[in-house]
Amino acid sequence: MKIMEARNIQMVDLKAQYKKLAKEIDLEMNKVIQSGAFINGPAVKEFTQNLAQYLNVKHVIPCANGTDALQVALMALNLKPGDEVITTPFTFVATAEIIALLGLKPVFVDIDPTTFNLNISEVEENIGQKTKCVIPVHLFGQGCEMDYLMNLASQHQLYIVEDNAQAIGASYQINEKQNHQLGTIGDIGTTSFYPSKNLGAYGDGGAIFTNNDIYAKAIQSIVNHGQGERYMYNSIGVNSRLDSLQAAILNVKIAHLAHFNQQRQQAANWYDEQLSNVEEVITPYRQANSSHVFHQYTLRVPEKRDELKDWLSQHDIPSMVYYPKPLHLQKAYQTYGYKTGDFPEAEKAATEVLSLPMHPDLTEETVSYITQTILNYFK
Ligand SMILES: *Cc1c(COP(=O)(O)O)cnc(C)c1O
Repeated sequence: MKIMEARNIQMVDLKAQYKKLAKEIDLEMNKVIQSGAFINGPAVKEFTQNLAQYLNVKHVIPCANGTDALQVALMALNLKPGDEVITTPFTFVATAEIIALLGLKPVFVDIDPTTFNLNISEVEENIGQKTKCVIPVHLFGQGCEMDYLMNLASQHQLYIVEDNAQAIGASYQINEKQNHQLGTIGDIGTTSFYPSKNLGAYGDGGAIFTNNDIYAKAIQSIVNHGQGERYMYNSIGVNSRLDSLQAAILNVKIAHLAHFNQQRQQAANWYDEQLSNVEEVITPYRQANSSHVFHQYTLRVPEKRDELKDWLSQHDIPSMVYYPKPLHLQKAYQTYGYKTGDFPEAEKAATEVLSLPMHPDLTEETVSYITQTILNYFK
């Protein structure tokens, strides 16, 4: 019985989640199909309002995916070619890609080894005349040091665009006072509804959020070809929409997001406890002022990471390396002149990280099987 279950372990179990919500989701999808309102239908409007309420943010603009969300956010800030945007080399490629695509210059800085997030002192040291924006990524589900970063931003007049593709629903306490949802602290926040994200659709989707009326208006227009009045174009835009079917699915799921995130935290607690005596692995650090919604449960394995991964795989346990090569060392980014050794912490992390299965339907028994298999490897 145990072995049967073990063979079914997945990094993210989308089928289990669908089974629980199938009735509601089928019903809501059917409504959209019957209505024929596939683009910008009522479901999109409803979801936009639900997400704004959830995040406690003034404006939410849905779009086609998390990469578009980042690109549109930067377009709304009217940066000039050659302007510099500081970000982390230890992230999914989309974060840097859109900077380069817009003719801006990605400036990478090293990460904090405990959280894998941007090291804010490194950000500070790299602010120059051309620096206009910083894109922090709330990696794996917990917040970058936003209070320190927002102070820097006001001192140096920088825009902050939060890439919140991995931490939707996580909160962050500013200056030991107010709690804010991550993604709503900077000038603009973005997220992705890629199926495996904490709030995942059944296809692509994304959203952009801001409390600023001017940015919201610009974003609203940019996602719709730069249109102002009907068939009047004020700027060069893109076509980036969340379709009604995805919005209908997300409307069902957003009602469960807080619970899903709690279930992830529960699974993370089981992992933490059961691995606490395994000296060969380092469990995820949790900051005091940010909640962690565990988009990934990522260990550091200073030695024999790849061997452990193979061992897990032999026992039908999937695991993933997010991310195996920092962006400054990728071929596509060679033009920016970085080399090995530039960001030692990001480079070290790439050789040590290992993400274990993580989703809301993980049982304690499955976590125990995984941790026992890790224990056996190091025995
Ligand atoms: C998933 C992800 C994105 C991109 O989202 P898509 O919807 O796949 O375009 C951007 N940044 C980070 C950090 C991500 O994890």
